[in-house]
Amino acid sequence: MSWLERLAGIEELEDAELDAALIAQFERAAPLAAGRPIRFSTPTFKSYSSCDMDGCGKNSFPAFSVTAGACALDCDHCQAKILEPMLPATNPEMLERKVRELIAAQDLQGFLLSGGSNRRNEIKYERYLPVVERLKRDFPHLKVAIHSALTDAPRARAMASAGVDTVMMDVIGTNETIREVYHLDRPVEDFEATLEALCSTSMEVVPHIVIGLHYGRILGEPTALDIVSRHPVHSLVLVVIMPFYAKPGTFATPATSDVGRIFL
Ligand code: SF4
Repeated sequence: MSWLERLAGIEELEDAELDAALIAQFERAAPLAAGRPIRFSTPTFKSYSSCDMDGCGKNSFPAFSVTAGACALDCDHCQAKILEPMLPATNPEMLERKVRELIAAQDLQGFLLSGGSNRRNEIKYERYLPVVERLKRDFPHLKVAIHSALTDAPRARAMASAGVDTVMMDVIGTNETIREVYHLDRPVEDFEATLEALCSTSMEVVPHIVIGLHYGRILGEPTALDIVSRHPVHSLVLVVIMPFYAKPGTFATPATSDVGRIFL
């Protein structure tokens, strides 16, 4: 049975428009990816219920924002709204106190350190790193992830020496998107330099590519994939844009086939 026939037999997909040519391409390419795991995730900041899957308890791996709800970039796809559900930790003492409280109260597996950017798409984490180091010393099972934003080799090394396990950043493949969507005056090369700096440490590096970041159009994604392919990353996260956070009417929903081609 072909993949198309198998997909057509899945009840949940009965209303989906299936692109037969693209699915055939996936089927032909499958042997190249055999044995390489793929995992689908749902965001912890959205609650949902389904008969197949329980919502992810956001308390087991909370996200902290070191700037609370503030961000100097105010990107068009986000408008800093992704920070709203995060727990504010605007100084290191606040982070340490909250993490220790959560460990005492519940089964905390780890946490994500994130925050809004400055005008250069950088987040200053330095003063938080001694807290990460103390927490990792006292609770070695904790997994600490960080959204690095743009950074350099010394700061990447400082994150790794503090014990950060996983580091994530968005890779953007065109200056047009950086300028227009992120309102940021830095070139694509700075994103690749950040990825290189992160990959030179012992941290698990997990770049993200947001598909449809240019107002729902595919533009820099192929270049972003090329950039990622040049570095020894731990894994790659492909995010499909959520116009949910954008000003209404500014983003188109990317076509499923376009998203599929990026995955392919
Ligand atoms: S820099 Fe990050 S938090 Fe700030 S608006 Fe852009 S995507 Fe949102």
